[in-house]
Amino acid sequence: MIREYDKLFKYFGIKPFKDVLPELRKVAEPHHLMRRGIIFGHRDFEKVIDALKTGKKFAILTGLMPSGRMHFGHKMVIDQVIYYQGLGAEIFIAIADIEAYAVRKISREDVINYAVNEYVANYLALGLKRERLHIYFQSNYAKEYYRLLQMFSRKVTMAELRDIYGEDVGPGKIMSVLTQMADILHPQLKHFGGFDVVLVPVGPDQDPHLRLSRDVADRYASELGLKRPASTYHRFMTGLLGGKMSSSKPESYIALTDDPDVAVAKLMKALTGGRPTAAEQRRLGGEPEKCPVYEMLSYHLITDDRELEKVYTRCRSGEMLCGQCKREAAERLRKFLEEHQRRLERARNIVDKVVDIPDF
Ligand code: SF4
Repeated sequence: MIREYDKLFKYFGIKPFKDVLPELRKVAEPHHLMRRGIIFGHRDFEKVIDALKTGKKFAILTGLMPSGRMHFGHKMVIDQVIYYQGLGAEIFIAIADIEAYAVRKISREDVINYAVNEYVANYLALGLKRERLHIYFQSNYAKEYYRLLQMFSRKVTMAELRDIYGEDVGPGKIMSVLTQMADILHPQLKHFGGFDVVLVPVGPDQDPHLRLSRDVADRYASELGLKRPASTYHRFMTGLLGGKMSSSKPESYIALTDDPDVAVAKLMKALTGGRPTAAEQRRLGGEPEKCPVYEMLSYHLITDDRELEKVYTRCRSGEMLCGQCKREAAERLRKFLEEHQRRLERARNIVDKVVDIPDF
C-alpha cells in the first residue's frame, strides 16, 4: 500500500504533507492525523495556510455516500472537517443521494434514512457545529448549483469520463460525476459565499475526481472565475480482520452505532501485528505498523502523542502482549462509544434543523 501512495507523489504531483507541517504549526496546532502521517499528501494546502495567516475566509467541501452504516473508517473524514471548522472554515457537506440511488441502486427511503440518522446525526454527535455549516442532499439544493452542473456538461468529454471510470460509463455515472464537480466547485460562486480557497480532504482513491475538478476549474476560469480546489489525502484504515474495511462485511469494521459489547467483541477478534507465540513476542516485540488494533488507537482512540508513543514502545519492546493491549484498547473503545452514543440521542433530535430532507 505504501508503494501505491508513493505513486501518487511520483506520477500525479501530490506533495508530502509533512513538508507543510512547519508552516502550519506557525498558525495552528496540526491535527493528530496530520502529526502522525495519516494525512500524508496534499495539493495546494499552502492556500489554506495562507488563508489562516491572513484571516482570509476558506471553505471545506466533503461528501458522504449514504449506502450503509457509518463506521470508524468514515469518522476520520469528519474529524478533519470538525478540526477545520474550529479554525474558522465554512463547511459544505454534500450527501451523494443521487449516486447512491442511480449507481448503487439503493432505495430512496434507505438513502434518506442512512444520510440523516446514520451520518448527519453521528457528525453532530462527534462535535460538528451548526455554525458555518451547509449540509445538503444533491437532489435538493439551490438552483445556482444545478446551473453549474448543467454548464459543466459542455466542457467535459466522454473520452475523459471513460478514461477515469471505464468503458461502460452510463447516464447515472455521468450525472454523478457532473454533480460531484459542482459539489467541489460551487462554494466559489458568489451565491454560496465566493470562497476562493476550498479544500477537499479525501482518500487517495478519490484523486481522479480531484484532478478532473481542477481541470474543469481551469476550463471555466475566465467564464466563471473558478480556481483549482486544494486537497489532502489520508491513508485508509485496514479492516479489523486485515484487507479493506467494507460496509458489506460488518466484522471488518466497528460502526459508531454498534452496541459497545458488540464493538469490543469485534476488537478482541481483530488481527494484530503480534508474533505467533508469547515467547517470540517477548523476544522480538510486536509490529504495530501492521496492526489494526494499533491503527484504531492511533487514528481514533488516543489523541495524546506521548500516550500513543508509550503503547508503541511497550509493543515494540515485547513488554506488552496483544491480549493485554487489546483489553486496554477495548476499554478506551467502550468509553468512547458510550459517551458518543449518549450524544447521538440528543443529536437525532436536531438533525432536521441542519439539513433540508427531501420528500421522496
Ligand atoms: S501489542 Fe498491541 S499494538 Fe502491538 S501488535 Fe499486539 S495488539 Fe498490536
